[in-house]
Amino acid sequence: THPVYGRIEGPIVIIGFGSIGRGTLPLIERHFDFDADQLVVIEPSDEVANFLHQHKIRHLQTAITRENHRGILSDLFKNGKGFCVNLSVDTSSLDIMKLCRELGVLYIDTVAEPWAGFYFETTDNEARTNYALRQAIRDEKARHPGGPTAVSCCGANPGMVSWFVKEALMTLSRDIGRNDPMPADRAGWARLMQALGVKGVHIAERDTQARRTPRPRGTFVNTWSVEGFISEGFQPAELGWGTHETWFPDNGYRHPAGCRAAIWLERPGAITRVHTWCPTPGPQFGFLVTHNEAISISDYYTVGPADAPEFRPTCHYAYHPCDDAVLSLHEMFGSGRQQTEHHILAPDEIVEGIDELGVLLFGHERNALWYGSRLSNAQAMRLAPYQNATGLQVSSAVIAGMVWALENPEAGIVETDEMDHVRCLEVQQFYLGPVEAHYTDWTPLQDRWELFPEDIDETDPWQFRNVLAS
Ligand code: NAD
Repeated sequence: THPVYGRIEGPIVIIGFGSIGRGTLPLIERHFDFDADQLVVIEPSDEVANFLHQHKIRHLQTAITRENHRGILSDLFKNGKGFCVNLSVDTSSLDIMKLCRELGVLYIDTVAEPWAGFYFETTDNEARTNYALRQAIRDEKARHPGGPTAVSCCGANPGMVSWFVKEALMTLSRDIGRNDPMPADRAGWARLMQALGVKGVHIAERDTQARRTPRPRGTFVNTWSVEGFISEGFQPAELGWGTHETWFPDNGYRHPAGCRAAIWLERPGAITRVHTWCPTPGPQFGFLVTHNEAISISDYYTVGPADAPEFRPTCHYAYHPCDDAVLSLHEMFGSGRQQTEHHILAPDEIVEGIDELGVLLFGHERNALWYGSRLSNAQAMRLAPYQNATGLQVSSAVIAGMVWALENPEAGIVETDEMDHVRCLEVQQFYLGPVEAHYTDWTPLQDRWELFPEDIDETDPWQFRNVLAS
């Protein structure tokens, strides 16, 4: 039997019923007590209308917009109780979160999403960064501390990987015989990372899920939102910029205001490759796709003032999506246009593979430690309905975040770095398959093509200059 973590009073409103919404719903039903007739799904597509009807779930078939969100959500949450679970693309996380807090309603999302249009409408690349999206939420938190809990960016990544960073730090501390006590606050965690000699973190992911038939030309195939992946792939590459870096990319820019933890590159993330490492493939290329956690982790673990830190880790995503998605990106960037057909691999069409998603902490005395989940699609299918391995890593993080929010209802706006990672992983663990720690002696100086000299720093393996593929 599955644990029921508590009662949610008032309506539960799920915004967006795509691959993640469909996977999250059965877990909400499994793990919370609530009035079933108060569950509402807001989803413009009629593809899911029949499913929702058959399951007797109220379906508001409309798209949430800047213009209508206040009216619709104020009406649904008119009694000042409930939980808003935002799993949609094209809806402003900030505006919806602000409204929920005003209404006294709990809120969670998995990405700092803007209203439709943001990703492609402006030619100002700095304005299109995740740094800008995140900073707006951090500024709102600073202006209005405390109050109803709104959990920002609580999926697998961003989300769960921030809890893995803490587990990895404690693991490393034990394995090198320091046995540090668990830090009690942000400053303590940042000092611990610094003391352990960690220079940076890759969010190192290899998705090997595959179906039997080859990808048809002209179709973008992925294991989660195609729309979401294309949007973030076209944003500038971004990374948290650590204090150990001695070089600065020619196409790199710092930000004039805010937390200062990250830089952005004048280049789309989905064609910016980095050298990285995961347990299954060993060394591999990943894409430096911008992600909220690259910025939040570098910010959270900063020691000293934001504009002149004593210590800050480099942090970025290093993503090898499923092979069909790699080919889809290749086709999209090569042809200069987006595919009109989108396809998300369903659990029962996937014939093999795992989503290996972890954090690679590097630069310390044991060189590098990968810590993460190696969930197979086969196992995911046994654990929960309607989702592949990628989806389950995300939806189970949403459940963990919802449990934490119920247990901490007046925590204000929080990111996953700021939550109790032990409690969250306790809730999530059942769904993650093998969660493992792997040390490696690999560095980005290995596995180069020696016949072609490169602009790298042979004296300092973990420089971003060496990680960035030329
Ligand atoms: P999806 O593309 O499968 O589904 C998105 C759904 O939102 C679609 O059904 C679409 O019709 C609906 N939608 C679009 N505009 C809407 C609007 N204005 N109002 C209400 N619904 C609207 O995407 P998904 O894979 O389910 O992902 C959902 C979100 O979760 C995305 O923003 C994605 O970036 C995010 N995500 C986060 C993580 C993480 O680990 N943090 C992982 C996967 C996805």
